[in-house]
Amino acid sequence: MHYNNLTDYLQSQKEWLKSFLFDILSIPSESGKEEKIQQCLYDIFKNFDVSCELTEIQNNIVKDPEYSDTIKDLDYTGRPNLKVENHETGSKTIVINSHVDVVPPSTGQRNPYSPCMDEKENIFARGACDAKGQIAAIALVLKAAKDYIKLGQKIICHLVIEEEIGGNGTLAMIRHEKNTKVDAVINMEPTNLRIMPSIRGAVWFNICFSGKSGHAGATLNSTNPVYKAMHAIKILKEYHSKLENESKNYGLFKDIDNPMPLTIGQFISGEWPSMTPGGTLVRGVIGFLPNKTREEVIQGFVNELNKPKNAWVKEGMNLRFDYRHNAVELPVSHWLVKKMSEACLRCKAKYLPIAMTASTDAIYYHEMGIPVIAFGPGDIKYAHSAIEHINFNQIIKSAEIIISFIKGLN
Ligand SMILES: [Zn+2]
Repeated sequence: MHYNNLTDYLQSQKEWLKSFLFDILSIPSESGKEEKIQQCLYDIFKNFDVSCELTEIQNNIVKDPEYSDTIKDLDYTGRPNLKVENHETGSKTIVINSHVDVVPPSTGQRNPYSPCMDEKENIFARGACDAKGQIAAIALVLKAAKDYIKLGQKIICHLVIEEEIGGNGTLAMIRHEKNTKVDAVINMEPTNLRIMPSIRGAVWFNICFSGKSGHAGATLNSTNPVYKAMHAIKILKEYHSKLENESKNYGLFKDIDNPMPLTIGQFISGEWPSMTPGGTLVRGVIGFLPNKTREEVIQGFVNELNKPKNAWVKEGMNLRFDYRHNAVELPVSHWLVKKMSEACLRCKAKYLPIAMTASTDAIYYHEMGIPVIAFGPGDIKYAHSAIEHINFNQIIKSAEIIISFIKGLN
């Protein structure tokens, strides 16, 4: 088969790519249930000109100080990460990371695991935008390397589990790969094909208030934990506004509205309308920018709670932070950003770097001192939503940009 150029080759792969993506979208792979998709990806990639390794995760990963225990008692048996590595070498070793786990279907999302494509070539399914469309882009890069183009660099793909619940898959992968020298990482997430060298941080809080349940007609004998929880949320909101003020106009985040939201995600309480609840649980996320560390953010909130006027709230309260990601910031002058910008320019895509307003697994590489950016097809506003979708042509474009980036390193 003759192709005039890379674009020509990539376009010729549309049917193959669509069937690859539909296959992996049809596999439900919520965090904690990634066995099947990892085996499926292994079976596909082993036919490429690469080495594939399903790397088992030991259950003692839960003892790692960086482990996120957002879900208790997860068993890692049979839920490996997948490492895919090409046989080429060059001046650089580039890791491409993406995750195979998805969040549960949204309320009102129809047939989340029966993918379909509309007339504008948008593909709908849970995980289409976050992050199976990105895995399809990686597959297309590897397929191009097998069929059409020599990449001339060492490429290692980390296809990991559990990104959505804190990044334990990537954590296990970097522990497993601690002796591999890596020059740069592309963390594939929905960035709408924009280069994102600044990625906000996040800490998840878990605040449990125990009360004393009792009859609604004798409230003096009971303590209502809902009031404590409501007050704690008020403290959180005031503290978060203070953080926002201290982070105004920071770096690449300056042009973004609400770049570091506070989200109260869960408020669970009560058994019966005429009964004081025995307990209340509040869980959520504090977003923050690279001008603060996770320790500062956590300590700042604890200090607010410790003020004497809040002593009544703290009584019977248990506070945990079960996901703690610092923000990522790579200078825009770094070669990784520059080379990616050049690749975007060559491929006629937007080349100016911007900031990412979600926390990702990029932080694990950043903490190891490895330069990392987030990049990928898909618009984050559709991720985790009832209308989750990705544009098929963006997937192909992202593969073209990544190939151009790798070739540009030669
Ligand atoms: Zn994601």
